[in-house]
Amino acid sequence: MTTTIQDPVARYVGGRDFRLLIGGEMRTASDGRVSEVLDPSTGDLLSTVPQGSPRDIERAVEAARAAQPAWAALGLEGRADCFARLGRLIEDNLEELAMLDAIDSGNPIRAMRLDVRISLSYVRGWPGLAQGMHGQVIPASPGGLHYTTWQPYGVVGRITAFNHPFMFAATRPLPALITGNTMVIKPAPQTPLSTLRLGELFADAFPPGVVNIVTGGAETGDALVTHRQVKRLAFTGSVPVGLLIQRRAAESGRVKNVSLELGGKNAMVVMPDVDLEAAVEGAVQGMNFEVCQGQSCGSNSRILVHSRIHDEFVSRLTERVRGIRVAAAYSEEADMGPLVSAAHRSRVHGFVERAAAEGASVVTGGDRPSGTADAGFFLAPTVLAGVTPDMEVARDEVFGPVVSVLRWDDYDEMLRIANGVELGLTASVWTRDLDLAHRTAELLDAGYVWINDSNRHYFGTPFGGTKDSGTGREESVEELYSYVEQKAVHVRLAAGAEMAARTVSLTENR
Ligand code: NAD
Repeated sequence: MTTTIQDPVARYVGGRDFRLLIGGEMRTASDGRVSEVLDPSTGDLLSTVPQGSPRDIERAVEAARAAQPAWAALGLEGRADCFARLGRLIEDNLEELAMLDAIDSGNPIRAMRLDVRISLSYVRGWPGLAQGMHGQVIPASPGGLHYTTWQPYGVVGRITAFNHPFMFAATRPLPALITGNTMVIKPAPQTPLSTLRLGELFADAFPPGVVNIVTGGAETGDALVTHRQVKRLAFTGSVPVGLLIQRRAAESGRVKNVSLELGGKNAMVVMPDVDLEAAVEGAVQGMNFEVCQGQSCGSNSRILVHSRIHDEFVSRLTERVRGIRVAAAYSEEADMGPLVSAAHRSRVHGFVERAAAEGASVVTGGDRPSGTADAGFFLAPTVLAGVTPDMEVARDEVFGPVVSVLRWDDYDEMLRIANGVELGLTASVWTRDLDLAHRTAELLDAGYVWINDSNRHYFGTPFGGTKDSGTGREESVEELYSYVEQKAVHVRLAAGAEMAARTVSLTENR
């Protein structure tokens, strides 16, 4: 039997009607507009999806507002039941959801199956974490009762990036939902398919209006950011759009709480005593070549290698990277797929060309890999050596399959290079010397640091960046509290008033 790579496209996308989720109903855009979705592996038109308008955002926010009091009143257990239903539906549709992501985003199918499984663990994990939320009892005055509790914000707006479409849509809303908020989600326009399919599952698992999904681009996102009834916004995306969102949120005339998960230019520090084989594998895993073509905020796109082992490291890294098989994302043979769009491919390729012009050497990759479809958006995994800290490729986020190796001799100079960029999302340190590892982790200016590891997220551990990489922390109990507003309650007890008077007289008698 012959299986062509087009089979999954026909099976999972062919003829399908993707719709927005508003108020529990699957709807077309109110003005009937649609936008085209391309297959990055072939460049072909996959489907059209509704292009949500500001009017659709308005309707979605209204539906979310109407649903919120009953959702909050359901209590944690009631909400957790909906999470459990969602978990079962995701599990039942795992292969379809993973395939939709591979087809739509270009991320390799094996990695997208893992994304769906990781998402499931988050769906199951958040209710337990929320059960541990607690207020405080504060001894503010003798005999009185002073305690804190909280209330949800109401409607939360969530805007996501293109690189992990399903995982972002399925997991990022969860801490806001479990704490009693309702949501309007706007996915990235390049990769809407799995999110719209997820909308059908949300509609089955949750009461109407609790989760609303509206696709679209900047105009649609802006309508959500500036909506006067959306006080809490959470954004995953680039620094320029993050800055714009802060500004537009303020221009709405309402005071809003905005959390931002933005870009990274992450350093992997390799000490001379390192286990080379583990570090090379860590570099490849940490670059997310085989997850999303390096299009990840957390990718270790700058590898700072000590001179003593530099040449051996580059040679082993090059050999490992040359072994990465690039193919259509939904092929089981793909270790790596195409970039998300032609425009993004050309942006990433531009970085390689300018790095070469500035004097970096392209050790492997840098162009279209052989055997891939000409019309697909493929770029071979690329290793640049001889990169110096002043080069553009060492300073700016590339967000693609391009890793830069920088050589160092002096520890303090290495730290200056590692910390000398405007982003501070992740970093990693590779050495057998644990004292040195801990000290370096302390000195690296980043929100998430691995020692002899890379790329893994540990649920419950706060993820987020310093400097321009964002504000706020996700995937942790801190994130739960970020979706509620604290409330202090003071009780003046009659007995307490007597006690207070006695305390005063005792003090006076002293
Ligand atoms: P992007 O900033 O271009 O777009 C992100 C989202 O913002 C999309 O949904 C887009 O439609 C929307 N948007 C664009 N203009 C808008 C506007 N004016 N108002 C409201 N919404 C608007 O980012 P991208 O290209 O989708 O993703 C790549 C970026 O995301 C990289 O910088 C990457 O590092 C970052 N990212 C960060 C994390 C993290 O957790 N820190 C995770 C993934 C991606």
